[in-house]
Parts: sequence; C-alpha cells; structure tokens
Amino acid sequence: MTLRAAVVAVGDELLLGDTINTNAAWLGTELAAVGVEVVVSVMVGDDLPRLAVVLARALEDADVVLVTGGLGSTTDDITREAVAAAAGVPLDRVPVLEGQLRERYAAYGATLTGPVLRQADVPRDATVLPNPVGTAPGLRLEVGERLLYALPGPPHELAAVAAPVLDELRERSGSVLHTRTVHTAGLGEPSVAEIVERTVQVPPGVALAYLAGGGIVRVRFTGPDDALLRPLADSVAAALGDAVWGRDDDRLDEVVHQALAAREATVAVAESLTGGLIGSTLSRMPGSSRTFRGAAVVYATDLKHTLAGVPAPLLAAAGPVAAETASALASGIRERLGATYGLAATGVAGPDEQDGNPVGTVYVAVAGPNETDVRALRLPGDRERIRLLTVTAALDLLRRHVTP
Ligand code: AMP
Ligand code: MG
Repeated sequence: MTLRAAVVAVGDELLLGDTINTNAAWLGTELAAVGVEVVVSVMVGDDLPRLAVVLARALEDADVVLVTGGLGSTTDDITREAVAAAAGVPLDRVPVLEGQLRERYAAYGATLTGPVLRQADVPRDATVLPNPVGTAPGLRLEVGERLLYALPGPPHELAAVAAPVLDELRERSGSVLHTRTVHTAGLGEPSVAEIVERTVQVPPGVALAYLAGGGIVRVRFTGPDDALLRPLADSVAAALGDAVWGRDDDRLDEVVHQALAAREATVAVAESLTGGLIGSTLSRMPGSSRTFRGAAVVYATDLKHTLAGVPAPLLAAAGPVAAETASALASGIRERLGATYGLAATGVAGPDEQDGNPVGTVYVAVAGPNETDVRALRLPGDRERIRLLTVTAALDLLRRHVTP
C-alpha cells in the first residue's frame, strides 16, 4: 500500500526566511526512501488556531502527518496544543515526564518555570517518542485511520526522534524505493542527458532524474526494484566514461582523498581566486592529513612568484591569469611543499574583468611526477558561483590524474 504523507513545518523563523526549512527537505528524502509519498509539505507560523486548521486539513489529505518544530519549552511553542485540538483530545500532564524534566533541570542547577513543564503535556492516548539528544520528546497519535507524528525542530533532534518513526513507516508502506546515482563533472546537463538517453531505455516504474549544481551533474534512477536500477546505472556510467567520478553516496573530495591515499600520494595547492576554498575542501575529510600537504593562497600577483615559485619573467609576460601561470603555480607549489601533486587555480571571479580577461576566465592546473595538465574554463555566474565551480573543476582535474 502506498502511504501518502503530509509534512508540516512550524515556526515564524521559517516564514521570515531566517531559518531555511531543511527539515522538510530531509523528511522528503527519508520518506521517499521508505516508500512514503509526500503529497503536501507546508510551513506555518507559531500560531495555534492556524496550525490546528492546517493539521486538521492535513489529516484529511494524507494517511500520515509529520509535524516538526514548536515542541520546545517557550510560550511560542504551540504544536502540542494544536495537535490536541486537531485530534479533538485534551492534553494530560504525564507525571513520569514531569519527573524527568525536574531531574534534568536540577542536575544542571537550572530553575524550572511553568512553561517548561508544558513539555510534560501529552495529547490523550498519544505515545511519547523518546528524544535521546534533547529535552522535547516527540509524539505519536492515531487519529481515526490516520497517524500523526510531532517531531522536534532542531535538525539533529529530528533525525534522532524520527529514526524509529521511519522504521515503522517502512514496515507499513511495504514498498521501499531504491535509488542508484551516477555523479559526473566536466560535462553540462544537456550533454549528460543526451548521452544517457542515447544509452538506456528507462523501463516503466523507474524514474530518471538529472540533478545539477556546483559543476556536478547527477543521474539518478529511482524505483521499487533495485535489480532494474543497477544495470541502468552501470550502462550510463560506462557511456559517460571519465566524466564519472562516483556513485550513490560518494563525495568528490572523498573520492580524491581515497584515490590519493591508495597511491600513498599527497597534494599541495596554490590558489588565487578561490581564496582558500580548495584547501578547505581538501581538509574536510577526517584523516586528510594523509593526503593533503597544505595550500598557499597566492591572491596578490607578486605572491605567485615569492610563495609559489612562478618564475618572474613568465609572470611578467603571461600575467596572473593565464594557462602557463596556472601550470607554473601547480609545479611550483608541488616542489615547494613537497607533494606528489600540485594543484592550482587562477582566474577572474568578478565582478570586474582583469587585464582584458572577462569574468569567469579560469585556469586550473595539476602537476604530477611526470606530467602537467591545464584546463582553460569559461565559468558562468556571479563571483560566489565562479569560485565554487572553480573548486569542483580543480578537484575534478586532480581526480582524473589520480584515479586509475
Ligand atoms: P522549535 O522546536 O520550534 O523550538 O525549533 C527549535 C530550532 O530548530 C529553531 O530555532 C530552528 O533553528 C530549528 N528548526 C525548527 N524548524 C526547522 C526546520 N523546519 N528546518 C530547519 N531547522 C528548523
Ligand atoms: Mg519554534
């Protein structure tokens, strides 16, 4: 049976845009993975009568309603009251919960005020979902044929309290959706789509999606039968060739780290327009000290010579934004920092052009034990986007040299 879900995110901060509603995105992904179809996902402010109306409506629309937020201890937290109102039941104070709250507050030497005790109020016949990482427990309530869950707002608390909920829903839906994803870089979305559509015919019951962002294009197959998805992903990966850098949960920085580690190789970076972002990305992984030597942010032109060893005559002749300069940055930093590979990026992030180079002109280069490779790019977008796309292009260039 396909279960239909409604997701309701509660909080004024969500409506004002102060907090991005990541809980809805997270629940959307997790619910799809356990075979539950989200049919509506809405945001409501901290407004008791309005939330009660939204919940009552959601209980008509869907088999399962999941509410996040508004379970805290302050007076603006009204989810408990709204759930009780929508279900038409009273709130009862649960002595066990009250005792736990009093103990916890005593342990921290904090004074327990009236509104805090509301966290011990539970709609009649609701089950309390333990919260191992916070004070506000979740709630599970059957309303006629429908199921209603109230879950905490802080994302890490949501994840902890929702784990058993997702298990229950997986069992009830009995129709788990599988996904197989192929990650690429270096090709635009239309080129990827053209190759994919030339290569495979998508059978009924399988959904094909392209997810593009940050210089990466993902090809995703979703369906109930993993035996159908796997050969599709394999054929697509074979056809896309060396544009493919990973599968499923892989991340580009991890793939690079693992490939370097497998060769007992290291990388050093000389970066200009990215201002440290490449080094930051390469040091993200725990254990990255095995593969990442360090990075020099050679933003000023003279530092490309003094810190990264670009020969002064070359720099004077080619300028800071040039293919030869990028190559010299890569081999210079490789030598100076004693790494197996040198990685470099130089270019124009904008908003103004530089020495006749238009915004988006970027060179990334890699220098290895036997070879130097440089890519000339024209990247689209504003300053922030150009910087992020440069990080991906640099990591991808290195990846092409270190993966077999
Ligand atoms: P609350 O449970 O309403 O007291 O929310 C506590 C905190 O959780 C808020 O201050 C937000 O930082 C976070 N939060 C609440 N709802 C969401 C949401 N839908 N997405 C992301 N974070 C949220
Ligand atoms: Mg709130």
